Amino acid sequence: MDSDSLKRTKNSRQRDLVLRILRDSKNHPTAETIYQEARKTMPSISLGTVYRNLNHLRDEGRIRELSYGKGISHFDGEIREHHHMRCLSCGTVEDVLCVIPKSFTEEVQAETRFQIHSVCLEFVGICESCEGGRLEKTPESDRLQGSES
Ligand SMILES: [Zn+2]
Ligand SMILES: [Zn+2]
Repeated sequence: MDSDSLKRTKNSRQRDLVLRILRDSKNHPTAETIYQEARKTMPSISLGTVYRNLNHLRDEGRIRELSYGKGISHFDGEIREHHHMRCLSCGTVEDVLCVIPKSFTEEVQAETRFQIHSVCLEFVGICESCEGGRLEKTPESDRLQGSES
């Protein structure tokens, strides 16, 4: 094998690894998290390589990049239509598989006059573990719970 094809093999192995990690994880990891995971299999891989492969896979439409205000992108190996629920407190992103009613999409289409190709909604809120932590810590929650009974 000449050095060019050796290089190509290495590149595609890196790309396959990044894609596999992303498809296996259900929690929309950041590039940094993917990098930490990739190093376990391929210790020589660099963060720059991970970013390059993520960008490439995104451009090919094989993964989705979810960028939210604060600048840190999360990546998603699931490209079928689905929606997201993001926690305002810890930043975790979960999939929402509920189907959006067709009537809603039609309403949006009528209002915007856009030809809608796909829908990806983002819901924001506080996740169960953050909400649980908050309830335990605030004295008001005791009072609230006490007054209910
Ligand atoms: Zn949370
Ligand atoms: Zn997702």
